[in-house]
Amino acid sequence: MKVFKFGGASVKDAEAVKNVAGILDQFKEEDLFVVVSAMGKTTNAMESIVSALYDKNIDTFRELVEERRAFHLEIMNDLFEDSNLPIYAEINGLFDELLEKENAQMAPNYDFQYDQIVSFGEVISTKIIVAFLQLKRSDVVWGDARTFIRTNHTYRAAEVDWDLTTELIDNFLADHQSKKVCITQGFIGHTEENFTTTLGREGSDFTAGIIAYCTNAESVTIWKDVPGMLNADPKWFDNTVKLDRISFKEAIELAYYGASVIHPKTIKPLQNKNIPLFVKSFVDPSAEGTVIQESTENDHLIPSFIFKINQVLLSITPKDFSFIVEENLSDIFGKLAISGGHINIMQNSAVSFTVCLDIDDFRLNKLVDLLSKDYVVRYNRGLELVTIRHFDQATIDRVTTHKEILMEQKTRHTARIVMKNV
Ligand code: ASP
Ligand code: MG
Repeated sequence: MKVFKFGGASVKDAEAVKNVAGILDQFKEEDLFVVVSAMGKTTNAMESIVSALYDKNIDTFRELVEERRAFHLEIMNDLFEDSNLPIYAEINGLFDELLEKENAQMAPNYDFQYDQIVSFGEVISTKIIVAFLQLKRSDVVWGDARTFIRTNHTYRAAEVDWDLTTELIDNFLADHQSKKVCITQGFIGHTEENFTTTLGREGSDFTAGIIAYCTNAESVTIWKDVPGMLNADPKWFDNTVKLDRISFKEAIELAYYGASVIHPKTIKPLQNKNIPLFVKSFVDPSAEGTVIQESTENDHLIPSFIFKINQVLLSITPKDFSFIVEENLSDIFGKLAISGGHINIMQNSAVSFTVCLDIDDFRLNKLVDLLSKDYVVRYNRGLELVTIRHFDQATIDRVTTHKEILMEQKTRHTARIVMKNV
């Protein structure tokens, strides 16, 4: 069996859904487990719907729900000729159920409530797609990830129970042996009490990895709007180059530094079972794409560039000029952890400790307050962090022209530079 994953952009309108159907038709002989996201920007819209409910902005809530209904109905009207098909009643029923939340008592646990509501996006998307595919094919079945992806109770960042999930997927497949294609939702799962959970934003890639791991699939293909994994985000960089093949290890490194093509958790289950991961273009499905697999060759690769913006560089010096030693560091780390900022790089000298952070202003102020009692704290905001894998001087020069370098760290394969515009 092969596992495919289609993200929100690949099902953002009726044309896109037809394109997905066309790709699936090219694999008629294969058994496919296909993971699909919510359509377009639906997950963002669902997040606003949850906020509106908690803020008791009922007018906004109704407006947002009706806007999402209209968005999906428009796609359906382009896909289906007959508006009496049962799928219409089904989708309208789901939106009515969502509207009913207006009268429901909101759970004190926001994350729990979030998962119960945001997951509608995936359910609706996959129902529409299955109804469309079933017009032409009788070998397609809808799979409800809320019956076979079993997780713990960490809502919004649920952790998978791998053994139970394996068993549940096995049972599901045994019940549908006559079907070639199962379409299911990414991103969502369920607890033992049948509450819905989610795996974290952009978690659909991870779902594909989970299913592949649990079924010992032959491969996973993530279909994207880019030709494969590129050596930089085209948003920041001209002349990007596609990476044709890279190792799991290199993919993990790139994801760790912030390359956003693949959800970082996706690689590990695939690496554990040595299941290759293809990243291919849904616009040009016959093109090669990128393959990520176990490899014995060195990844002596084209340099890759990963940018992070809005970085804060914070330097911390003990007021009494005591050396930065273990006690200071554990105190500083404790406060960093409380602040909720995310550390990207750190460096220390005899009397100061410097960190480059992802942190918003609110959290930054809180952190500075916490630290200021015992330390002199200085910071710079609005910085850029660039990571270059497989760097050389030319690549460093390329990214640092017209920049002032505030911090630099090099290991054998990786250079990381914190800088600002001059
Ligand atoms: N729909 C979810 C999100 O936008 C999951 C995903 O697309 O991977 O985060
Ligand atoms: Mg997505």
